[in-house]
Amino acid sequence: MPNCQECKTPIPVEEDMPDLGEVLVCPACGAEHEVISSEPLEVELIEEEK
Ligand SMILES: [Zn+2]
Repeated sequence: MPNCQECKTPIPVEEDMPDLGEVLVCPACGAEHEVISSEPLEVELIEEEK
């Protein structure tokens, strides 16, 4: 289970192997993470420009 790169909260993953490019949203702070590797599962924070 990947951890949020903003607040370190574990991000629940419904599928065992999310597709590359799938976006996972942190349940605690709402930060979006893109799946960059499925084995092992790694996510990268998507930084939004405001
Ligand atoms: Zn978070």
